[in-house]
Amino acid sequence: MKLKGQVALITGAATGIGRASARLFAQEGAQVAIADINDKDSKETVRMIQDAGGKAMFIHTDVSAVPQLERMVRTTVDGFGKLTIFFHNAGIAGPGVLETTAEEDYDRCMAINLKAGFFGARFAVPEIRKAGGGSILFTSSGLGLRPSPQSPVYSLTKAGLIMLTRSLAVSLARENIRVNAICPGPVSETPIWQDFVNRVPGTNADEYGRKSLEGRPIARFGTAEEIARAALFLVSPENSYITGVALPVDGGGVAR
Ligand code: NAD
Repeated sequence: MKLKGQVALITGAATGIGRASARLFAQEGAQVAIADINDKDSKETVRMIQDAGGKAMFIHTDVSAVPQLERMVRTTVDGFGKLTIFFHNAGIAGPGVLETTAEEDYDRCMAINLKAGFFGARFAVPEIRKAGGGSILFTSSGLGLRPSPQSPVYSLTKAGLIMLTRSLAVSLARENIRVNAICPGPVSETPIWQDFVNRVPGTNADEYGRKSLEGRPIARFGTAEEIARAALFLVSPENSYITGVALPVDGGGVAR
């Protein structure tokens, strides 16, 4: 029970990495609030956690709307009494290459992937402080550490999260609030994957997948559960000396 007594708020936990993390955090004793735009699958995540004997609630949230981020934090604290872990994991693939990127697609990707992390933390930190400390985690990407030829905007948002991680880690360390990021490699089982594929004209899932694995030392896709275990590691109070880290969970892709 690594997270006994903790209250975690996770964005983007309807499916994929967020859902796997929500289930794992609950299994480790945390009460989990799920903030997502996808009602049906979020309710399924809540049901899975409750069926396993855990505590979870769903808060319908469009993370691109700042007032909804404030409400999601307030609703978590109203429901579970406090907040100790904020995990901004919601993300979209966003637009493709420079020449085809429309301003509204740029703005939407920035708002969901990056701005929501900033303002989510803005509202979460006072509550985490009140609880005596805790942890913030962002889902960046291997493409936040290395450039994506297919989507400069996606890479920009994920790199932004890494600098946000470091900035907040430095400013919040004395308050017992640790801030870290995970940088997943390719996880092809989650819904966002098809959007990554669709970003590249003339490709298909097989070809895109093959390219993603080319030269990757561990030459397979990651699973949502493998990423969730790294998330658990970083938010766990037992790993109390780790802050400001952007941890690749990518089969050696960045090291290559
Ligand atoms: P996913 O599609 O299962 O997860 C994305 C989640 O974000 C979904 O639950 C979706 O409903 C939610 N979401 C999207 N827009 C939202 C909004 N406006 N408000 C609230 N919620 C919203 O895919 P995933 O692979 O689990 O992705 C999770 C995170 O991991 C994302 O940030 C993604 O960029 C990142 N990531 C994924 C991969 C991969 O290969 N799958 C690799 C690196 C990083």
